[in-house]
Amino acid sequence: MISDNIKRLQEQINKTCEECGRSSNDLTLVAVSKFFGIESIQQAKESGINNFGENRAQELALKFEKIGDSVIWHFIGTLQKNKVKYAVRCAKFIHSIDSLDLLLEVNKKAESIGKIQKVLFEVKTSYEDTKSGIESEEEVFRLAEESKKLNNIEVIGLMTISPLTEDEKLIRKSFSYLRNLREKLIKSGYTFRELSMGMTSDFKIAIEEGSTILRIGSAIFGQRDYKKDWRQI
Ligand SMILES: *Cc1c(COP(=O)(O)O)cnc(C)c1O
Repeated sequence: MISDNIKRLQEQINKTCEECGRSSNDLTLVAVSKFFGIESIQQAKESGINNFGENRAQELALKFEKIGDSVIWHFIGTLQKNKVKYAVRCAKFIHSIDSLDLLLEVNKKAESIGKIQKVLFEVKTSYEDTKSGIESEEEVFRLAEESKKLNNIEVIGLMTISPLTEDEKLIRKSFSYLRNLREKLIKSGYTFRELSMGMTSDFKIAIEEGSTILRIGSAIFGQRDYKKDWRQI
């Protein structure tokens, strides 16, 4: 049951917060509903969840059409330029800005609908080849500087995906890297508040390392059926 899962998860989050002296009020839980249908989202909503994350732009658009902005949508996936319009129309937050090109396109589409788009920069914090994200600190600083010139962009923080490993030390290293990078940015005058990090397998470490936004899917909705077509949801 989704409601039981949420209850259990929230207890675990609260416990971890207590153990490391943080307030769970400083944490936003985003329920990652990709591959799950409207009914599952409604159930989570009834259990008090109001932030949802999607990683495919058209799937987000379809769900947005049905549920609208009675919940807050987060776009967390790789974003192709030709899909930016969906993400900007539906998502209050886009977590996955990883290039200047993409940032400019988001600014353009946001401008065309008169919106200030809140975004996070996705940073690569592990050596895995498959992981997306900005690869160097210099590039993060360059994008931060460029975004000052863009009237329809507000950068609110950084996002990362930890390496796929059982090695807790490597996961922790990836999260602390992101936190330290945010400190450097803050010292340089950028007001980046949010750290979007932590999924089902590593959210406890993420909380300990200062996460402010958790993106959790399977602990809430169960196993995903990756064969499922987004048009069928
Ligand atoms: C799917 C996904 C998540 C959630 O993953 P779970 O392991 O199911 O919690 C978080 N972040 C991103 C970017 C995702 O694509």
